[in-house]
Amino acid sequence: MWEVSARSHEMSERPNVLNAAAIVKRFGSFAAVTGVDFQVGAHEAVGIVGPNGAGKTTLLNVLAGTYLASAGTVHFEGSDISHLDAASRCRLGIARTHQVPRPFANMTVFENVFVASSMGGGHSRERAYEGCIASLQLCGMLDVANRQAETLGLLDRKRLELARALATDPKVLLLDEIGGGLTDAEAAELVAIIKQLRARNIAIVWIEHILHVLLQVAERLVCMDAGRVIAEGVPEVALAHPAVIEAYLGSGVT
Ligand code: ADP
Ligand code: MG
Repeated sequence: MWEVSARSHEMSERPNVLNAAAIVKRFGSFAAVTGVDFQVGAHEAVGIVGPNGAGKTTLLNVLAGTYLASAGTVHFEGSDISHLDAASRCRLGIARTHQVPRPFANMTVFENVFVASSMGGGHSRERAYEGCIASLQLCGMLDVANRQAETLGLLDRKRLELARALATDPKVLLLDEIGGGLTDAEAAELVAIIKQLRARNIAIVWIEHILHVLLQVAERLVCMDAGRVIAEGVPEVALAHPAVIEAYLGSGVT
């Protein structure tokens, strides 16, 4: 890699909770991700940035098990999980949110989070109930718990994505552009919630276009372009890389 700063070196001393090596993901003959190594240290907050089409969501899908990699391996807490599907990975402690929120529209907020906790997290009814209430509280959704999910505005739908992921009791939370489409004030509310998750020692992998929002949480940035990692390190170092500046010019990303 181009440069390893003192701080990112120090982070690499933390045991990795998630370790993806030489990941390739092809769709037909097109490789959306091509030879990516990606690690998440225990309790670390990693940001992923890059222009549209860089392969960020595809990488997240490979980490979550939504897609199996065409080549490469994924280890979680030292175990090879490369062949496990998303449901199995979720039970181990890898949760994700989607770029476009996908609640069960005809269920209430509470029911959505309860299903995530009991089915997704594999928790008993009692534990699922407790986890559900705790998640709703942390995400500021107790007062809308009985609303139908389809009636929620964008910020609440994003909060619900977070609450559902959180209710599975994750060790690693994968966030895909959860700040997209929000006003600055709304994004600040999400950041406050995500900081609380950090305080609970949940490792975060966050793909986000809105840099000033991401930088409030990310300790390290991984910059992707055309299916590859083009730079990584502490944010100020990674963002100063010429390849990153070039990738951002023309992409219109701010
Ligand atoms: P990003 O999240 O960085 O914008 P994606 O990972 O969504 O990028 O996409 C990377 C590339 O892979 C894009 O060219 C996209 O069109 C392609 N791609 C993503 N998912 C699929 C799919 N399911 N089938 C075919 N091509 C895909
Ligand atoms: Mg994407």
